[in-house]
Amino acid sequence: MTRTASTQDDLRRLNRARLLRHLHERGAARRSDLVAVSGLNRSTVGVVVSELSEAGLVAEAAGAPGQVGRPSLVVAPLETSAVVVAFDLRVDCTIVALVGLGGQELWRREQRHKRAKYTPASAVKNVVSLTRQALEHAPDDAVWVGVGIGVPGVIDHSDGLVRLAPNLGWSDVPFGTLVRAALLEEFGDAPFISIGNDADLGAVAEHVRGVGADHSNLIYLSGEVGIGGGVIIDNRPMLGAGGFGGEVGHMVVHPGGSPCRCGAVGCWETEIGSDALVRAVDHAGGAETIEDVIAAAVAGQPRARAAVDEAGDWLGLGLANLVNLFNPEVIVLGGHLRLLLPMVKEQVRERVSHALPAARDQVRLEIPALDDDSTLIGAAEMAFERLLADPLTVVAEPYEATAS
Ligand SMILES: [Zn+2]
Repeated sequence: MTRTASTQDDLRRLNRARLLRHLHERGAARRSDLVAVSGLNRSTVGVVVSELSEAGLVAEAAGAPGQVGRPSLVVAPLETSAVVVAFDLRVDCTIVALVGLGGQELWRREQRHKRAKYTPASAVKNVVSLTRQALEHAPDDAVWVGVGIGVPGVIDHSDGLVRLAPNLGWSDVPFGTLVRAALLEEFGDAPFISIGNDADLGAVAEHVRGVGADHSNLIYLSGEVGIGGGVIIDNRPMLGAGGFGGEVGHMVVHPGGSPCRCGAVGCWETEIGSDALVRAVDHAGGAETIEDVIAAAVAGQPRARAAVDEAGDWLGLGLANLVNLFNPEVIVLGGHLRLLLPMVKEQVRERVSHALPAARDQVRLEIPALDDDSTLIGAAEMAFERLLADPLTVVAEPYEATAS
């Protein structure tokens, strides 16, 4: 192949990727809208839309009447054409969803498991069984693009190695390799499998489809037993040299505080993680979950109220540090932090008021637009990446088993 032909092929592939990504992330659009957002000319958009349509990924239909009164054609992603299986693997439950192109959730299930007893082997078994259940709900002829799994831990993206997931009690677990082998054994073939950090995925989802959709600099905090952080700078995830960056839950904020499961003392998550709040009130009896603590605080139970107030203070202190370090436009407080934030606005406002003025004035604190599903939706986005990068190749080789 000549150099020119190769370059033209690359260009066509990039154009297809660009338009399909726009339709997947933003939904149906008129051809004229696609011309405007892509910067491509009208005939190129026409060719690309035809290619994607022949591949079965998009369809054109008459939309609302245009200015001249004639209905204009609207290009829409076909949710039944390609699917991914997405997992949010948490400390005490696993959430799975079958998601179609365009981000439509086609099926979901939640399965609880016992904390501290969720071994890598039982997690792999669950992933296989839930994947089978999800695929039973897949539309006929849909291409199975991949499996995306969010894990609350430090992940090596190249092979899905979980270096450390302190709240699951896992260290150096080759989770991606184990899942891939188990899916291969179950299905005889398996698509692309990717493992990501729960908060990194939450950040991606809120950036693509949530409160950060119109912002370039965002931090997502996942509030669970631990506190995870996902940082997006200039529209790109900030990963660090090995992909392990953004672990804000292990910022040491209280050197004289409690031991953390990571081995350090006084990490941010030992002050604002859900266990910290439950522990602070359980002497008063009754509170077993973070929801119990919040309900007791709302009901005016003094011990619960004091625990919530104190957590609010630590929350504000950590947020002020993040504002100074990253100058984000939005910090999204996910998990139980979205329940906590409205109750501790005063403490948080006071603490954040001590951040440097320029950065402080630019930041907004938000709860997720995707409710409790940010990580799940981020896992689906991660699994769709392969299709969005090269649509026609993936459609031509469905179910291809590819190492990550
Ligand atoms: Zn720690």
